[in-house]
Amino acid sequence: MSSFDTQVLIAGGGPVGLTVALELARHGVRCILVNDQRETALHPKANAINARSMEHFRRHGISTKIRAAGLPADYPTDVTYVTRLTGFEMARLSMPTSSDAVDQAKAGSGPYDCAEPPHRCNQMYLEAILHEATVAHALIDVRFGHRLEAFGDVDGGVIATVRNLANDQVYDVCADYLVGADGGRSYVRRQLGVLYDGEGGVVRQMMGGAMLATYFRAPRDRTWLQIAPSWQYWIVSPDLRALLLSVDGGDQFVLLSRIPDGADVDTIDDVELISRAAGVPVEAEIILRQPWTAGHALLAQSFGRDRVWLAGDAAHLFTPTGGLGMNTGIDDGVNLAWKLAAAVNGWGGPNLIATYETDRRPIGERNLAFAKSFAESIGTFDVSAEVERGSAAGQTERQRLGAHLADHGWREFIIPGIVLGVRYEGSPIIWPDGTPPTSDDPYNYIPTARPGSRAPHVWLDDGSALCDHFGAGFTLLRLAMDPPVDDLLLAAHERGVPVIVFAPGSDVVRERYEADLALVGPDGHVVWRGNETPTDCGALIDRIRGA
Ligand SMILES: Cc1cc2nc3c(=O)[nH]c(=O)nc-3n(C[C@H](O)[C@H](O)[C@H](O)COP(=O)(O)OP(=O)(O)OC[C@H]3O[C@@H](n4cnc5c(N)ncnc54)[C@H](O)[C@@H]3O)c2cc1C
Repeated sequence: MSSFDTQVLIAGGGPVGLTVALELARHGVRCILVNDQRETALHPKANAINARSMEHFRRHGISTKIRAAGLPADYPTDVTYVTRLTGFEMARLSMPTSSDAVDQAKAGSGPYDCAEPPHRCNQMYLEAILHEATVAHALIDVRFGHRLEAFGDVDGGVIATVRNLANDQVYDVCADYLVGADGGRSYVRRQLGVLYDGEGGVVRQMMGGAMLATYFRAPRDRTWLQIAPSWQYWIVSPDLRALLLSVDGGDQFVLLSRIPDGADVDTIDDVELISRAAGVPVEAEIILRQPWTAGHALLAQSFGRDRVWLAGDAAHLFTPTGGLGMNTGIDDGVNLAWKLAAAVNGWGGPNLIATYETDRRPIGERNLAFAKSFAESIGTFDVSAEVERGSAAGQTERQRLGAHLADHGWREFIIPGIVLGVRYEGSPIIWPDGTPPTSDDPYNYIPTARPGSRAPHVWLDDGSALCDHFGAGFTLLRLAMDPPVDDLLLAAHERGVPVIVFAPGSDVVRERYEADLALVGPDGHVVWRGNETPTDCGALIDRIRGA
C-alpha cells in the first residue's frame, strides 16, 4: 500500500477525468481528482455519447440514468439539412428515438451490435451524472475549485502543488501517478514538454476555423422552427453555415456557427444570428455564448511517461464531426486506468503502463482521421444563392446538394465500425492467434474475438449481456464443455493477477468467439483465445500483465 496521500492524482474533472476516477475506484484504487472549475460544464459541448462509452458506463451502473438524461426517450434523433429553419429541407437522416434504439439493440436489429446503442445526451448532463457518481464513491476524493499548479518527481511517485481557489491556499499532494485529463490546453502536457502533431484550426466554410456556440432558449413553435423535430439541423445557406442542436428536446438549443473571417466575436448579435438561421425573427433568450475553434486534428507526440500520463483532449484534439473527441477520451481513460491500477495493486509488470500509449495513440490517430474526413465533407463546399429560390433551378440545386448531404449524413452518423471496431493491433500485451485482421471498415463492424478486438457482444438467455458478466480484472470465458483451466488460473494466482471464470453456456457465444476459451481484459478487449490453455500459462499471464 502506498504511503503517499493518494494512489493517483487526476488533474481535470471533465468527462475523461471523471471516467478515469470511476474506473480506478472499480479496481479498488484511491484517487484525488482536482478540477479548476467549481462546477461541471454549464455550456453544451458534446452531444453524442457513442455505443462504446455507453458500454463503459453500463459497467458502472449509470447507463440507464444517462439514457434518461438528454433527449427524451421518444424524441427523434434525426439529422436534417435545411436552407433555413423555415426554409427547405434538403436531406434527412432518420435515426431511432432513444427508446427505439434500445429496442433495436435488444432485438439485434440496429447497426450497433452491442448492449448499449449510442445516446444523444449533452455533455453537461453527462458530466453532472459522472460527478454525482464520483462524489458518492468512498475511494474518490473530488475537489472541484482546486487547480494543479506544479508537479515534479518524488522518490517512487509525483509531488504536485494544488491551489484551493476558494481560499487561495496552496498544498502538496503526493501520489504514485498523475493523470493529466486537463483538456486541450493541458498544463500537464505542456509541463512534460509534449507537443501536438497534426493540423490546428484548418479553415473551412463550416467546422473549420473560428466558431461560436450560442446556447439559448426559445419556445418551440412553427413561427421559427418548421422543420420536423430533429436532433441536429444543419443550416446550409449562402450567407450562413450553422448547426442547431436540440439540447433537451424542448426549448433549449445550441447554435454552432462559423464566425465570418475577420469578424469580432464580441460584436456578433446572437439573436440576429439565430434569426438568420431561422429565416425569421426569433425571440431567443441567450443563456451562454462561447467562441471556440474547429478544424483541429492534433495528436500529442507522446501520451506520457513514467508516472505522468495524458488522456482525453490533453492527448488529442478533434473537430467534433463524428462525435469522437470525448468518446475517444473516455476509451483512453478506461485503457489507462486498469494499467495504473495493476501497477499500484502490485501485479502490473514493468512494461504495462507504456502499452497505454502503444494501444491508444494509434486509435487517436485513426479517429482523428475519420473526424477530419467528415469535417472536409460537410465543410468544404460553396452554397449558391440559387438554393433558396422557388424556381426550377433552385429545386435542381437543392436536389444536387441534398444528394451530397444525404450521403454525408449516414457516413458521419452511422459508424459502428469506428466505434466498436477498435482493436489493439500488435499490442505487446495481446497474445495473437495468427488469424488475419478483419477490415477496419467505419460502416461495417464485424464482430470478432480475434485477440486485440473489443470482446463481441451477445445477449444471453436470461436477458443479460455477456459483458455484464465481465469482472473488474480479467475474465476467462469457458465456452465449451470443461476445457481444463487450472494451469492458467494457477499462473494468474501466483502472479496476483485477478481472473474470474464465466461459462455462459451459450452456443451463440462459442460460435462468435470461435474458440473454447477466451480471456477478456479489464477494458473488455480480448487478450487471448484458444481451444486449450497454452503449454506455458505463466508466459501468457506474464505477457498480458506487461512483465
Ligand atoms: C461544440 C463542440 C461539440 C462537441 N461535440 C462532441 C461530440 O458530440 N462527441 C464527442 O465525443 N466530443 C465532442 N466534443 C469534444 C468534447 O467536448 C471534448 O473532447 C471533451 O470535453 C474532452 O474531455 P476532457 O475531459 O478530455 O477535457 P475537458 O472537457 O476540457 O475537461 C478538462 C477539465 O480540466 C480542467 N483543468 C484544466 N487545467 C486544469 C488544472 N491545471 N488543474 C485542474 N483542472 C484543470 C478544465 O477546467 C476542465 O474542467 C465537442 C466539442 C465542442 C467544442
